[in-house]
Amino acid sequence: MSQDVPLNVDPPPLGIGSAISMAPLTSLELGGTARYLVEIADTAAATDAIRWARRHDLPLAVIAGGSNVVVADGGWPGLVLRVAMRGVALEREGDVVRVTAAAGESWDELVERCVGEGLAGIECLSGIPGSAGATPIQNVGAYGREVSEVIEQVRVLDLLTFDVRSLSGAECGFGYRTSTIRESPGRFLVLAVTFRLARGGAPTVTYRELDRALGARRGAPTVSDVREAVLDLRRTKSMLVDECHPNRRSVGSFFVNPVLGADSLAALEEKARRSGALLPGESLPSFRIGDGGFKVPAAWLIEHSGFKKGLRRGAVGISNAHALALVHHGGGTTAELVALARDIREGVAHRFGIELQPEPVFLGFPTPNPLSDS
Ligand SMILES: Cc1cc2nc3c(=O)[nH]c(=O)nc-3n(C[C@H](O)[C@H](O)[C@H](O)COP(=O)(O)OP(=O)(O)OC[C@H]3O[C@@H](n4cnc5c(N)ncnc54)[C@H](O)[C@@H]3O)c2cc1C
Repeated sequence: MSQDVPLNVDPPPLGIGSAISMAPLTSLELGGTARYLVEIADTAAATDAIRWARRHDLPLAVIAGGSNVVVADGGWPGLVLRVAMRGVALEREGDVVRVTAAAGESWDELVERCVGEGLAGIECLSGIPGSAGATPIQNVGAYGREVSEVIEQVRVLDLLTFDVRSLSGAECGFGYRTSTIRESPGRFLVLAVTFRLARGGAPTVTYRELDRALGARRGAPTVSDVREAVLDLRRTKSMLVDECHPNRRSVGSFFVNPVLGADSLAALEEKARRSGALLPGESLPSFRIGDGGFKVPAAWLIEHSGFKKGLRRGAVGISNAHALALVHHGGGTTAELVALARDIREGVAHRFGIELQPEPVFLGFPTPNPLSDS
């Protein structure tokens, strides 16, 4: 412990633990120890812990549910803030209901509660693991809906100034699986998020697969019907946290679906045809998105580059239910997982000329994207 900060001279604020194993705090169950870790239940606790870390030049990291982080085998060399603020408040104004959730609230429990109260807006985002406070970080999305569509404001602690600020949706700079908060690591701690939901509103069903799944039911679907259908669909793809399932240790999608302009999409289709990945009469799967781009399923690119569902390499592999989910089968290392992810990325780049970008956040690595390090 010779490298530890002199605790006798400047004791850490109450509750800071040292040498805490991070693997059990992540859905991948991988990664080394945090040199220091503290559970943050309120703003004052966060401020005290951050000031203490700054005095000792300790780098800061934030985790909540740990379902979208890849922690290095060497762990985190500084202080990890583990988000634990709790509380939900509802404010009604006619048919609009503003739901403010403290950052550490479970996202899916919040969705379940809102759906139970007949509030529309987040039903398609059922079953996404993790915390309410992490949803704006990568603008979580699924089944035709992104959380940015219902976020009214995000309350943050600015870690530069220690001011508490409210960021409007526009100030959050939301994009496809990104936001200003994600792009400025170490700048903001999300304290709470306010969602604008509709009482008695109709559910959003724009996603073809969801529409088909609901088709078998009678009458116009309710928000509860949509939640149930989404949970059923997610279950078939192992995209729900299930303690007993062999695919359970993952971060969900490991790669973001690439977004291409019309010309790049045509060039990719041509390349796929020439290489035999597309047979005569087949077309490349793609989905038009708002700003004129086309989303190409990364899972299709991965499978057509020779990385099949169920592939296993030692203690890591690809989920047997979804080619986009890399899984840890237990007893492995982050290095093994990253090596597999790097091979997949290189394979797709070689076959299709597309560089897949990882979706999770990497903690404790020399660079923000260890997949592109040579
Ligand atoms: C089975 C499975 C399915 C998934 N399906 C989806 C899906 O359909 N759509 C989707 O978008 N994602 C999905 N994910 C990814 C993940 O669940 C989401 O990104 C989720 O929002 C992460 O929440 P978390 O609390 O676990 O965040 P963590 O993993 O703890 O953190 C993720 C990032 O957010 C930051 N962060 C977390 N909380 C705060 C805070 N309060 N303030 C500042 N920064 C913070 C962390 O520093 C880190 O950079 C899935 C994951 C799994 C395991």
